[in-house]
Amino acid sequence: MRNYRCWLALPGALLLGGASRPAAPVAPYDLVISHVGVVDVEAGRLLLDQTVAVAGGKIVRVGPAGRASYPASQQLDGTGRYLLPGLWDMHVHFRGGDSLAAANKKSLALYLAHGITTVRDAGGDLTPHLYQWRREEEAGTLAGPRIFTSGPKIDGPGATWPGSLEVTTPSQVSRALDSLQRLRVDYVKIYDSKISGPAYLETITQAEKRGLKTTGHMPYSVTLGEAVARGLDGTEHLYYVFKACSGKEDSLTALVRNSLTTSKPLGLFAMLPAVYDTYSPAAAQRIFRLMASHRTAATPTLGIGKTLAELTPDNHAHDTLLAYIDPQIQRTYAKRLAGARTQSAAARAFTHKLEAKFMTLVPQLQAAGVPLLAGSDSGPFNSYTYPGASLHDELALLVQAGLTPAQALRAATLNGARWLGVAGRSGSIAVGKDADLVLLSANPLADITNTRKIAAVVARGKVYSQADLGRLLAAVKNK
Ligand SMILES: [Zn+2]
Repeated sequence: MRNYRCWLALPGALLLGGASRPAAPVAPYDLVISHVGVVDVEAGRLLLDQTVAVAGGKIVRVGPAGRASYPASQQLDGTGRYLLPGLWDMHVHFRGGDSLAAANKKSLALYLAHGITTVRDAGGDLTPHLYQWRREEEAGTLAGPRIFTSGPKIDGPGATWPGSLEVTTPSQVSRALDSLQRLRVDYVKIYDSKISGPAYLETITQAEKRGLKTTGHMPYSVTLGEAVARGLDGTEHLYYVFKACSGKEDSLTALVRNSLTTSKPLGLFAMLPAVYDTYSPAAAQRIFRLMASHRTAATPTLGIGKTLAELTPDNHAHDTLLAYIDPQIQRTYAKRLAGARTQSAAARAFTHKLEAKFMTLVPQLQAAGVPLLAGSDSGPFNSYTYPGASLHDELALLVQAGLTPAQALRAATLNGARWLGVAGRSGSIAVGKDADLVLLSANPLADITNTRKIAAVVARGKVYSQADLGRLLAAVKNK
């Protein structure tokens, strides 16, 4: 406290030009949270009875509470409470075209109310809207998480998702990356509905040369090892890591590649059973080690896999969170529901088997040193994967898969900040970092489901009490 007071007062004293004048009134902290248990996500430990002070949207003091009192515009008693860095959902979507922009915007309140203070948008067709929301958030006129975005996805000709940048040749790749750089996107998302293997690898190579981060899906006609060697920075969902865990990866890849010029091209879903049947622990260790040495992250998205696998037997009609999902967004759920209805019993059984296998990969990736990112894949079209709440489901699944609560929390905080290159200013509770915080009424290191017990959220230094969060939710609730 004294140090802070001194350096705050110093420039004022110099400005006033003399010791004879009385010192300018000292601005107190904006916010002080006292006697709180601080979750140190980096070390995976709890620091008891701490005081955390915030000024100008930044954390300016973290330390043992002691007896001193700290003047502040706002005080929060942290006794019996736990302070987490604001959560990061590293895989969300805002999409569905301009007519759904307002409906998408409502999800920002859902994220914040669930303690998510940063999201990584994994590609969509609402980029100009996202930039507008960011400006409103920075101006303090919109409550929501900080948004990082890939802008439009890169894919091949005739791409599934509207708004994708379609590339085949190296010069098209170059033009697509030019346009993303003009947009000043935070990273590049590559999708695999139509992109060719060569165009996929070319995109990674060119992005790497420009210093752009890449992540995404991957055509099954290339190997993850090739992509990692070219500089791929992340892989979304576990389908692509899983393929590299096959002991027959090379021959399966050749099979896919050779099928592409025939009338029956093979894709990911056709190949998954063969990949499953040829799973090799040695091949798995090889790809995990390669990813770890290149710092290639994995975003498992276990929650959406589970939700979609159980889409038919589950009745979501009574989900309380549906009340906060705009009817326009609910209508986008129909496509995956229809797909689930026509799925054969055998296909459904295989999906369950696959999801269970994916769970076993998570602790192995962690043990090998692969950076893990917590992502929900929530957004339009991704049925019943609710913005905000689904990240807490993901955390619980990561722990169920075998991570410690501390490892899961790191995947949803510091690892996200590191991946996006902003760990110097965010992702943990430390002096100089953004005051994005979640105050919990129970210890998340003891039980990961305690992340749902939110007493308050601090975003950009502003406190949202339970009542404030309730009002934000009420404002987006369907009438
Ligand atoms: Zn996605």
